[in-house]
Amino acid sequence: MTAPRLTFHPRDPQQHVSRETVVDNMRELGFIAAELDGQAGDCFIAGEHFIDLLSFLGCSPVIHLSPEEGDKFCYIELLDLPAAELIYANQPFQPKCKRCRHPLTDWKTQLSGASVIQCHECNSAIPLDKVNWKQSAGYASQFMFVHNIYPHEAVPGERLMMKLEAISDNKPWDYFYDI
Ligand SMILES: [Zn+2]
Repeated sequence: MTAPRLTFHPRDPQQHVSRETVVDNMRELGFIAAELDGQAGDCFIAGEHFIDLLSFLGCSPVIHLSPEEGDKFCYIELLDLPAAELIYANQPFQPKCKRCRHPLTDWKTQLSGASVIQCHECNSAIPLDKVNWKQSAGYASQFMFVHNIYPHEAVPGERLMMKLEAISDNKPWDYFYDI
């Protein structure tokens, strides 16, 4: 079973900000702190302003930020890919054709390396980054995961989104939830 994640990515699937830039800026903002050993991947401990940079919903969420508090603690992982990929939740939103609204039922079988989904009703080719996934998937060349955040348990604050945009030539980032 995979842990729930709040996942950030540039809206432009070709957009790629260097790891160094992301790490330096996220650290300066207090979103991430030291590198985290013992996890597969490029992982970081939550920084001192982590909780302020996300808005936690509900009255008193139980948020663990350190490995000593058990394995359900929040940490951040960076992933760089050689080419854009679609990452999606276990039960992603059923996407629809942008033009004719027909459900794109076989989108998963069309994926393998494709950057578009074909609508069998009207023959439109919809780029993966233009599909409305209702925050259940994202198509990008880089991702920043926050592990152990349940869907809609937290939403990113404006400062975090503005910073990500600022380090990306003022191009916006998006986020989604996957579990
Ligand atoms: Zn269509």
